Amino acid sequence: MPTLLCVPILVHDLPAALADAKQARHAGADLVEFRIDEFFTGSAGDAGDEEQRAVLRLVAESPLPCIITCRAGAEGGHYDGDETARVSLLERLGTAQRGSGDGAEHPPRYIDVELATYTRSANLKQKINLAVDHPGQVRDVRTSLILSVHDFTQRPADLLRRIARMRAEPGAAVLKIAYRARSLRDNLELFDILAEADRPTIALAMGEFGLMSRVLAPKFGGFLTFASLSGSSATAPGQPTIGDLLTTYRFRSIAAGTYVYGVIGWPVAHSLSPLMHNAGFEAVGHDGVYLPLPVPPEYEHFKATLGALIDHPRLTFCGCSVTIPHKEHLVRFAREHGDAWSIDALSDACDAANTLTIRRGGDGRFVSAGVSNTDGPAAIDCLTGPLGPLAGKRIAIIGAGGAGRAIGAALVLTGATVIVHNRTRPRAEALVKDLLAKLHARPDQVLAADLADLPASACHAVINCTPVGMAGGPAPNDLPIDPEQLRNSNPAAVVFDTVYRPRRTPLLERAAAAGLRTIDGLSMLVAQGARQFAQWTGREAPRRLFERIGGEAMHDPSSA
Ligand code: NAP
Repeated sequence: MPTLLCVPILVHDLPAALADAKQARHAGADLVEFRIDEFFTGSAGDAGDEEQRAVLRLVAESPLPCIITCRAGAEGGHYDGDETARVSLLERLGTAQRGSGDGAEHPPRYIDVELATYTRSANLKQKINLAVDHPGQVRDVRTSLILSVHDFTQRPADLLRRIARMRAEPGAAVLKIAYRARSLRDNLELFDILAEADRPTIALAMGEFGLMSRVLAPKFGGFLTFASLSGSSATAPGQPTIGDLLTTYRFRSIAAGTYVYGVIGWPVAHSLSPLMHNAGFEAVGHDGVYLPLPVPPEYEHFKATLGALIDHPRLTFCGCSVTIPHKEHLVRFAREHGDAWSIDALSDACDAANTLTIRRGGDGRFVSAGVSNTDGPAAIDCLTGPLGPLAGKRIAIIGAGGAGRAIGAALVLTGATVIVHNRTRPRAEALVKDLLAKLHARPDQVLAADLADLPASACHAVINCTPVGMAGGPAPNDLPIDPEQLRNSNPAAVVFDTVYRPRRTPLLERAAAAGLRTIDGLSMLVAQGARQFAQWTGREAPRRLFERIGGEAMHDPSSA
């Protein structure tokens, strides 16, 4: 059975909740969950009767089958009223008399009750069992019970015991486990729980590490996944929007055999790569899904997480992009893993890589892994357009960090002459020394120089490899070099900014105004992603699509 897509709706008033449910149906949801715990107070007397009638009306008028949940405060909800009133409502809902026309009642498809509530007393359990379909039911009941456990802070220490207790309840048609993941690895345990499920099961991780469990629920046969109508209406931390699930992650096309890819970094939430690669997979018909994979900065986290992703027997993790601060970690990991791992010359020279490609056999087993650096070749792709073959050309690089190193090394391998300028001159000199030694280059092929000397250096291109000009960076309005000075010494020079937020950086604006040719950082981002895509899929990447998506994500009108 395909995994259902359920939109949770926090009910405050009936018309708004029903309007949201209509919107959920329009957006492609299969089910809505009405979270009534802020609406239903459990009051006694007429007020309580009125609340019950309102909930019955909500269910009767819902445009989609629904789950009714009146979540207790102890499990992340808001209900703090009388327990008997809550259970009476559920009993009343489950035994609603079906009919037609005005005033007709409809039982909800599901009611959700916490394991802690269900097992609190024999009396409560009996009352709930009267309202739900189960093997011992003698009444004509159409509502099924979702029995749930939640932990908003961590993986419960007694998780396995709680699951065993839920599995011992024949009254539960569906089991639900939701807890806050402390790392990506917590998702993998949830996948194992789904694999061993004895009945329809929802197993979801909350928080920034939990997206994987929500997107990949169909791969592991999860009963449903939750998605909010908008970012602000999420009912649990880390819940994606229905648009994210259906459009970005192509939720409906994810199946057991879908290959998993992603971008490992810290932070990664801002990355454009999931938008590009997922759309690319769809465009070429590749059965893959690409996820943001947040991994904290320390090598120990990287090592443990990457190892677990690769080794998981059913995840079919086939590769990833690796970004700051883990590029060096990827090479270290590969060096620690021996013969089945290869490292390309550029990554070896830079001690940093941004791409992992995993080859698996027909049975899904790990065969080998390749580590490569597509940043440098992407910059070469961008430069050869305006400059032609780069051998013998003089290229100035500003910055001596990771990007400067990868691009510098790739340029040296193509036969270009590289001059490194950095605000901290000793760092530029150290980079030059390192490249000379590792690439066996001629001493006049890689040089360090002061930034002040750059305009007069008659270079064919200048590449900014610092964050200067980056929105949200240390100097968003500054220029790493004055383009007018550059134009005066070499009007044919090309100015290349690796910064891609914004697409038209101050440097590129001024360079274009000075009549110089420019290359933007998005072109490099697209080129490095395209090379990764080709390694993973064996197909040429749809570059124009990547460019359009990247441009749109940065609200660049020229990409529309
Ligand atoms: P990194 O390793 O941190 O290196 C940053 C370099 O910039 C260092 O040389 C640093 O100089 C210099 N720098 C930092 N702030 C500066 C300032 N205010 N003024 C002058 N110099 C400054 O960073 P990275 O990984 O190389 O990335 C650099 C840039 O490349 C990023 O902004 C990123 O947007 C871009 N990039 C783009 C792509 C793409 O696909 N388009 C790919 C990778 C990187 P010191 O040595 O003196 O600290």
